[in-house]
Amino acid sequence: MEDIRQRLNQIRQNIGRAARHSGRTEKDIILVAVSKTVGPDAVMAAYDMGVTDFGENRVQELIRKSSHLPEARWHFIGRLQTNKVKDVVGRTCLIHSLDRWTLAEEINKRAIRMGIRIPALVQVNITGEGSKTGLDPGEVPAFLQSADQLPALQIMGLMTIAQEDPDPEASRPVFRELARLRSRMAANSPEYVQLGCLSMGMSQDYQVAIEEGADIVRIGSALFEQR
Ligand SMILES: *Cc1c(COP(=O)(O)O)cnc(C)c1O
Repeated sequence: MEDIRQRLNQIRQNIGRAARHSGRTEKDIILVAVSKTVGPDAVMAAYDMGVTDFGENRVQELIRKSSHLPEARWHFIGRLQTNKVKDVVGRTCLIHSLDRWTLAEEINKRAIRMGIRIPALVQVNITGEGSKTGLDPGEVPAFLQSADQLPALQIMGLMTIAQEDPDPEASRPVFRELARLRSRMAANSPEYVQLGCLSMGMSQDYQVAIEEGADIVRIGSALFEQR
């Protein structure tokens, strides 16, 4: 677990440096430790080192690990099937992957039943790759308008995944585009939609993402895996 600590320290330094580049500090950035490839032990170790937020992309793993560590904040970051929404609602502080209208309706329905509001980010497919889920940027305005009618769904911002490329600079235009979209939308977003939050950047490109305005970075392998 010592190597997790070393990598975490390095990541925190990098986050701090990138945050200062964009006029912020390390405290302004939320590190979501993506624990999808590791077990509860590594999660516990990271939690003891002060990591408070974890991300999972599969419902079963979310259930398993969050029940080990309910006091952490759990983020859901993967494609969410409508019939699994009931298992996620109540276990997650933020759904990053709201990518279609039927999912928005289902989250709203389940949240109403539980008497809670569910925060979510709208996933946007900036790169246009067919393999990626997410709304086309052009679909976002209408989606936000409609989502404003769902009282238990709380839109908090936007999320994207850049293309896989060993060069982090390749992600910069993608992140810049999402930040632009956020600013455009925020200027005339409907009443209950807040767009304060940008979730972008992974192990490969989180520093670039923060420079371009990310508020949340989702880091898995750089923290949990030997490189
Ligand atoms: C796996 C995953 C991550 C973390 O990826 P790394 O490259 O391991 O940091 C971030 N976001 C999503 C949506 C993921 O599925």
